[in-house]
Amino acid sequence: IVTFKDIHKSFGEVEVLKGINLDIKPAEKVAIIGPSGSGKTTIIRMLMTLEKPTSGDIIVDGNNLWKMDKNGKLVDANEKHLRSIRGDIGMVFQHFNLFPHMTILENCMTAPIQVKKENKETAKKHSIEMLEKVGLGDKLDNYPNQLSGGQKQRVAMARALVMRPKVMLFDEVTSALDPELVGEVLEVIRDIAKEGEMAMILVTHEMDFALDVADKVLFLDEGVIAEQGTASEVIEHSRNERLQSFLKRFR
Ligand code: ATP
Repeated sequence: IVTFKDIHKSFGEVEVLKGINLDIKPAEKVAIIGPSGSGKTTIIRMLMTLEKPTSGDIIVDGNNLWKMDKNGKLVDANEKHLRSIRGDIGMVFQHFNLFPHMTILENCMTAPIQVKKENKETAKKHSIEMLEKVGLGDKLDNYPNQLSGGQKQRVAMARALVMRPKVMLFDEVTSALDPELVGEVLEVIRDIAKEGEMAMILVTHEMDFALDVADKVLFLDEGVIAEQGTASEVIEHSRNERLQSFLKRFR
């Protein structure tokens, strides 16, 4: 469903991604771990089309997101493809990014109405279903500032899910939460993962969670994928020294 072919990304003089190759199958759950500054968020932002690669191909559901000239240099966005994949990819951020002036039900209904052109009744029905799924069926008319951080993050998930994306991206969704609220958010992600059909890419520092949920784990280090394999291979059995010293910080 998602392919990265030799993706490079520089900000000015600094090359942040140095040749990333990725192949994510439909329904696959992939965790990305790695030190601060290794490029994890940049990968996620590229998938959301918020960031353009310096070179390489990003193919989502068979569509190449960027056009090249005959020398292989990226020239432009494939606008049609970008528009169509934006509806296929859902994202949950570290800082919830909810609309503060809307109730949580309205927060969820906006995108289906505006982007998918659903009618209001259908959007409302789907939004209530999703909010019930994340355990917030009794808070539909609350505003974001009336909720805890964990509840806000669950709204953010419902809001992404209501678009029925093919791929869900989670970028350190628990790192801004008080420790006692982390569990409830991970629990919801686990439930979504178990349902199966969506591909999920999770940037996380929660190693036990990655072991539990991820089919595949990538260790990103200084802009390259330094190690990859099953969660157990990477987190429990790798001999890569930099990975081992990185993991020690979470044990
Ligand atoms: P963290 O775990 O701290 O979030 P990360 O692995 O997600 O780190 P990125 O956010 O992808 O890392 O950043 C990788 C590098 O790219 C960092 O050195 C960062 O300073 C740099 N960077 C990211 N975005 C920009 C930008 N818009 N302009 C310049 N440099 C940037």
